[in-house]
Amino acid sequence: MVDGGVRDQAVDAAGVAGPGSGLHQSLDVVLVADVGAEPGHRAARPGDVGDDRLEFLAVAATADDVDAPGGEPPGDRRPDATGGACDHSGIHTGGSTGGDKDVSQPVADFPYTGVKAPAVPTVAMPNGESAVVVGAGFGGLSAACYLADAGLEVTVLEKNDQLGGRASVLEAEGFRFDMGPSWYLMPDVFERFFGHFDREPADFYDLQRLDPHYRIFFKDGDSVAVTDDREAMYELFESYEAGAGDALESYLETSATHYEVAMENFVYTDRPRLRDWLDLDVLRAAPVGLQLLGTMDDYVADYFDHPKLRQIAQYSLVFLGGAPHNTPALYNIMSHVDFELGVHYPDGGMRSVVEGCVELGRELGVDYVTGAEVTEIVNRKSGFLVESAAGDVGADYVVSDADYAHTEQELLPDHERQYDADYWDERTYAPSAFLLYLGVKGDVDPLAHHTLVLPSDWDRHFERLFDDPGWPADPAYYLCVPSETDDDVAPEGHSTLFALVPLAPGLDDTDEARARYRDQLLEDVAANTGVDLRERIVFEETFSVSEFADRYNSREGTALGLAHTLRQTALLRPPHRSSASPGLYFTGAYTTPGIGVPMCLVSGEHAADALLSDLQA
Ligand SMILES: Cc1cc2nc3c(=O)[nH]c(=O)nc-3n(C[C@H](O)[C@H](O)[C@H](O)COP(=O)(O)OP(=O)(O)OC[C@H]3O[C@@H](n4cnc5c(N)ncnc54)[C@H](O)[C@@H]3O)c2cc1C
Repeated sequence: MVDGGVRDQAVDAAGVAGPGSGLHQSLDVVLVADVGAEPGHRAARPGDVGDDRLEFLAVAATADDVDAPGGEPPGDRRPDATGGACDHSGIHTGGSTGGDKDVSQPVADFPYTGVKAPAVPTVAMPNGESAVVVGAGFGGLSAACYLADAGLEVTVLEKNDQLGGRASVLEAEGFRFDMGPSWYLMPDVFERFFGHFDREPADFYDLQRLDPHYRIFFKDGDSVAVTDDREAMYELFESYEAGAGDALESYLETSATHYEVAMENFVYTDRPRLRDWLDLDVLRAAPVGLQLLGTMDDYVADYFDHPKLRQIAQYSLVFLGGAPHNTPALYNIMSHVDFELGVHYPDGGMRSVVEGCVELGRELGVDYVTGAEVTEIVNRKSGFLVESAAGDVGADYVVSDADYAHTEQELLPDHERQYDADYWDERTYAPSAFLLYLGVKGDVDPLAHHTLVLPSDWDRHFERLFDDPGWPADPAYYLCVPSETDDDVAPEGHSTLFALVPLAPGLDDTDEARARYRDQLLEDVAANTGVDLRERIVFEETFSVSEFADRYNSREGTALGLAHTLRQTALLRPPHRSSASPGLYFTGAYTTPGIGVPMCLVSGEHAADALLSDLQA
């Protein structure tokens, strides 16, 4: 099933093809993934992807209406349609402006506050279309911009005291840490996002291209730097394996083609329903799709034998929240992203990008309210009432960027949930993480801005993430030293560094476990990179499974959301448009296209598009 074998026969899943189904029999195949059962999906209707296995996707066929979950636009919710303007624009007095679940920080607080909560939250204008965005991660910030640009009155309600979601900032004792994303990848996506509003990233922040992109320390004493110099990369690959230089060229050429096809057809084009896959563009892309049916592991093995070269080609899966054996080969596009598009640093760190998105939104009229944890989303005939710690807000539409599982399970009444508890229990969640933020005296050469430390055999680490959850004894991990590039993130004569070890979600991260792991990690860093930090640490803080759960309402403390497994890709991710609560939409890493800052910017666009097309219908 999961191998998603190509089949040259009609799709035969019950309720999808065959007599009486929406798909005619002239299906010429084909697809890309295993559209598995969606047990627990509660909005099933005839034509939905059903409980049987369906191994398809790019299908050449004539088709009637075959919808995947969430496919139908809700009824018209415009004020006109309900006989008048939204009638719930008043603020019901809420609690204080401070959320009550913020993570407590014994050593430092999170002092960077993007926007102060106003004493009285702004509420949508009574005569205009209005939307509340729940959560100010990149998906929410993006959706807010698109919606405000289209003329809606938009209010963003964020639980924490900072905007940016997982891209929060920790500032303490002169050190500044991006607490979440630190790799600025796919600059083309940011250009496209700001370009939509006739702006460009440079209007908001400056970018530096990093060279080396990153350094890898293998735990057998070997180390390599991945750089912009293609000839050097050719030689590097060749030095591990005769012929691997040419294989790299060919791998990257194919990866570039896959990137173009995937971005155009599967990332920028939202395809929430089965019928959306039945078009010519998908057909044209099918030859590419067919090459990507398997796993990254198998795909990369076709090019490289040497385990280290395979690791270089696959390390980015850690960012996608997957493992080589469970991530579709499609994600070889990340090598194009890495080698060709390059690794960049926005001056000031990822917070500059957050600030850019917020500033753009503000120019477009978006209101932001922090300390406004939403506790309930009530869908009434006349519109929504969104209850929050900073007051209740009425709106015609709601877009939730908070974790999907949290929104469905905790903010909606039972009858407005698309999925039952089993559905969420059965998902594969992307890893959580153990993060160690360190302020260190002196420099940390030879660590680069981005450094990876990889054991020779990393299968055991992935097993500890997905199959046999536990603290990995011999971890693969990432070290980030922004002070290598940016003088402003550390006091003079010091370095800002954080270590990130991916961990299984839901792991018990007691103080004892953290303390033990912290010591083990620092020893590992010293042994494998030659940089002994232990006597030089002047500031430190940890952040792990419990903080992800508390600070972001993240299920099982996942750092990233739903893993990009074969069964959780494309239309198998939860939809942007709720099929159970008309007028409610979702954005962010749980939805398509998926995990990562660029993907979440695109997901905001898709969620806004869904809302606007319903509004115009
Ligand atoms: C440690 C780490 C490293 C990463 N590294 C990278 C990287 O280098 N490059 C990259 O591109 N991506 C990286 N990512 C992934 C990337 O950060 C995320 O995929 C992306 O930022 C998620 O955006 P989102 O739109 O899903 O919203 P989120 O960032 O998840 O934000 C959701 C927001 O909703 C808020 N919220 C939750 N519940 C409520 C509620 N009830 N009421 C109001 N608000 C609520 C939360 O507080 C949060 O602010 C990393 C992530 C982590 C955690």
